[in-house]
Amino acid sequence: MKELNYTEIGQHLSKAGLSAEELLDLHETMVSNIAAAVIYSLEDGRVALCSPYAEVLTGFPTDYFYSDHRFFESLCVEEDLDRFRRARMIAELGEDSLVRHRVNHQSGLQLWLETRLVPVLTGDGEVEGIMSVSTDVTALVCNQLQIEEQNRDLADFAYMVSHDLKAPIFTIKGMASAIAEDFGEQLGGEGNELLNYISAAAARLETLVASVIEFSSASSKPIKESNVDLRRVVADVIHDHAKQIESCAAKIEISNDLPTIKGDQVRLYQIFSNLIGNAIKYRSKDRPLVISVTNRPISGPRVLIEVSDNGLGIPADKLEDIFRPYHRAHGSAIEGNGIGLACVKKVVERLRGTVSVKSTMGSGSSFFITLPAASSEPQAIPPELTRCFES
Ligand code: ADP
Repeated sequence: MKELNYTEIGQHLSKAGLSAEELLDLHETMVSNIAAAVIYSLEDGRVALCSPYAEVLTGFPTDYFYSDHRFFESLCVEEDLDRFRRARMIAELGEDSLVRHRVNHQSGLQLWLETRLVPVLTGDGEVEGIMSVSTDVTALVCNQLQIEEQNRDLADFAYMVSHDLKAPIFTIKGMASAIAEDFGEQLGGEGNELLNYISAAAARLETLVASVIEFSSASSKPIKESNVDLRRVVADVIHDHAKQIESCAAKIEISNDLPTIKGDQVRLYQIFSNLIGNAIKYRSKDRPLVISVTNRPISGPRVLIEVSDNGLGIPADKLEDIFRPYHRAHGSAIEGNGIGLACVKKVVERLRGTVSVKSTMGSGSSFFITLPAASSEPQAIPPELTRCFES
C-alpha cells in the first residue's frame, strides 16, 4: 500500500474542493474523534493542543494538560520515565521516536501506551514543537507478556526433560556396550544384532535430546545486543567450515559491503553457520558448488542479506515447512535432524528480523534475512520497546 504524506493529504483535500474553514473543521473532527491522545507542545513546553481522548486514556480532564506542560510525563510510571524522556529528547533533536510506557490512570489502574513523538519543524528545519500521539496497547502488551511467559515455561520444560533424559540414555548405551563386551560370545549372532538395535536407538534418542536442547536454547538464552560487523561473522563461519569447503572445492562469493548490524555476535554466527553449512550439505553432485552472501540494499533502518547456493533446491510444497522443527525436505539419505532452520527462524525473530526462502528444485536456494541496521537510531521498533516487556 502506498503511504500518504501530509502534502499529498493536503492536495487530496484541496482537490475535493474544501475551503480552508471546512479543512479546519475536518481537522478538528479528526483530532476530537481519534482514539488516541494527541498533544502538541510548543518549543517552550506550553501545551497548545490536547485531544479529548487524553481524558479517556488518563482519566484526567484536558485542562490539567494545558495548565501543566509536564502533566502527561508526571503520569508515567517511575520505571518507564527515563525511556519516555529519552524518546522525547530524540524528538527535540529533530527525529521521530516511538516508546512504549505505562501511565497511572486516575482510577489507579496502569495502562500501557505506545507514544509516537514527532518534531514539527519550521521552514528552516528548526524544531518548533513536538506532536505526541499516544494509543492504548494494554491488551496487546498483556497478550505478548502472556505468550512470552508460556514460551519461557515451555522452553524450560523441554530443557529440563531433555537434560533428565541424558542420564538414562547414557546408562542404556553404557550397559549395551558392557553386555556386548562381556557376554558378546554367549549371545551369538541374533543376540548381538538385537544389542546393536538397542545401541542405535539410544544414539538416535541422544541426537533427538540434543536437538530439543538446541531449540529450547535458541528460544530462551538471553540475547546480548551490540553492533556486530557481519563481515567478521561471515569470515569466522567460512574459516570454521574451511575443511568442508575445500573438500568439495566450493566457490564462496561474499560482497565486501556486508554491513554492521544490531544483534548478538554468537546468535548471528549461529544463523550464518546454519545457512552456509546447509548450502554445503545440500549441494548438487552435478556442478561445483557456489555460495554467495550478498548485501541487498533496502530502504529504512534495516538490512537485507541474501545467502544463495546452486545446490539441490527445495521442493515447492516443502518451502513453508522447512522453518518448523523436525521438518526435512530431502529424506534420511542426507544426515540431519531438521532443527537448524527452526533455530535460525527463532533467533532471527528474537533479533527483530525476518527470514524467508526462495528455491527452485534442481537449481538452488536463496535465504533472505532482514535485521535492524546498527546506525538506525531511533528505530521504528527501538530496543526500549522489547525491554519494556520484561516484567
Ligand atoms: P537439517 O539440515 O538438519 O535437516 P535444517 O532445519 O537445517 O535441518 O533444514 C531443514 C530442511 O531444509 C533440510 O532437511 C533440507 O531438506 C532443507 N534445506 C535447508 N537448507 C537447504 C539448502 N541450502 N538447500 C536445499 N535444501 C535445504
